[in-house]
Amino acid sequence: MKEMSVFITGGSRGIGAACVRLFAKSGYRVAFGYHQAHEAAKAVALETGAKAICADLSDPAQAVRAANEAAAFLGGVDVLVNNAGISQIKLFTDLSDEDWRTILATNLDSAFYVTREIAKGMIAAHSGRIVNIGSMWGKVGASCEVHYSAAKAGLRGMTMALAKELGPSGITVNCIEPGVIATEMNAALDETTKAELADETPLCRFGTPEEVAAAVLFLASPEAGFITGQCIGVDGGFAVGS
Ligand code: NDP
Repeated sequence: MKEMSVFITGGSRGIGAACVRLFAKSGYRVAFGYHQAHEAAKAVALETGAKAICADLSDPAQAVRAANEAAAFLGGVDVLVNNAGISQIKLFTDLSDEDWRTILATNLDSAFYVTREIAKGMIAAHSGRIVNIGSMWGKVGASCEVHYSAAKAGLRGMTMALAKELGPSGITVNCIEPGVIATEMNAALDETTKAELADETPLCRFGTPEEVAAAVLFLASPEAGFITGQCIGVDGGFAVGS
């Protein structure tokens, strides 16, 4: 059987690194993107045998270069995981144009640039899996994270529309919407806020990057072949009913 391949963006840390580890362990050939954490990326690459590709995916030229480098290394991409992202907590009225642009470009535009490149090969192969990492905040909205919530809501729309457009080409497109996950993204939150977020989660805790990675691996599996256009919460029940 042909070895399956996956390109995971934001694979140096957190959820992306957990995906790199799980896919590599599951027999996939893996390439992953990262931006600034050279040492962390090197360590993940060494540990898993995956190829690390450095690029600022908010920049269209770098995103296109990274996607093509991944496709060339992997000999075609069977699974694309759009995971790279950043967050920022700020009052709406304090947001600068640059804050807005940076969050939208890193969380949403990057997925557009990379997917547009990778989809060409998937369409030609008449198969493929695309998994976007959104956020429950894209569904329920987060106070003081309006730009982040808007970007993640954009990923929902992109997921649903692209699923319809690429379905006839044998490609599924889905979105995982994590709740609060214990990664560096939340490391700066104070202890009171962390406790409040855990309290608001029906399962009373933060999730782990590994729990998100397991859902991503499932969506890439043959068993998930009839699932497309779905936004699936891995959020401990936080967004239930929304
Ligand atoms: P981390 O901060 O731990 O890791 C972010 C990853 O994205 C890193 O690999 C980072 O690269 C990469 N990245 C950031 N900016 C760029 C860029 N401009 N170009 C290329 N790569 C970039 O985040 P998490 O693992 O927590 O989050 C992963 C995804 O999950 C994000 O999309 C996030 O929005 C989403 N999410 C996270 C939640 C959480 O609670 N943690 C909840 C809901 C959604 P480098 O290491 O080089 O900086």
